[in-house]
Amino acid sequence: MILHCATTNPGKLKEFQLAAGHFGVAFDVRVLPGLSGIEPPEETGGTFTENAVIKASYYSQFTGQYLFCDDSGLVIDALNGEPGVRSARYAGVHGGDKANNELVKQKMRGQANRAGRFVCVLALARGGEIVETFEGVVEGQILDEERGTGGFGYDPLFYHPPFGCTLAEASDSQKMSVSHRGEALAKMFRFLMEQRAEE
Ligand code: IMP
Repeated sequence: MILHCATTNPGKLKEFQLAAGHFGVAFDVRVLPGLSGIEPPEETGGTFTENAVIKASYYSQFTGQYLFCDDSGLVIDALNGEPGVRSARYAGVHGGDKANNELVKQKMRGQANRAGRFVCVLALARGGEIVETFEGVVEGQILDEERGTGGFGYDPLFYHPPFGCTLAEASDSQKMSVSHRGEALAKMFRFLMEQRAEE
């Protein structure tokens, strides 16, 4: 089954395309054809779910297949939930990972409470209508300095205690096995397989 996704984030896209193989399911995840020529919707939601729903209901109008969108980010307790839904543009530049990490390090300097989590919401839609949403969460600790070169975004600052390393030091498949995105993708695949079995 073809599953379209609508993202221009290369880090997310890589994980989406690895996911079907990782979970051993027969879904063919492809970028929505013509995505670069479609004006993106404004992400005006106050939650990950609201933004995922805005994007998926909008982009799914451009395909006859199922389409999903991811809205995700880092939630840090000591920063009252920041960067949260502003994770991609925390330092003002959309997708500016280096500047975003610098800002997190600066705001976390001297903070005793290092707890944070990545949250991912996937919204699945068809023909402009939301079918279902799926959430995944992974807990971690925010470091003072980056470690590792894998992953993307805030991964080098995100220490995952069960691994004893950051998500940027973990392999792609290790990250998928615990990550917020891996959890949400696994839920979405399970849902679609159940739907298919009922058809
Ligand atoms: P969105 O495109 O508005 O959902 O923004 C997502 C942003 O959250 C990304 O640009 C990253 O900064 C951050 N983010 C989400 N998932 C991850 C992850 O798996 N690792 C590191 N950063 C992430």
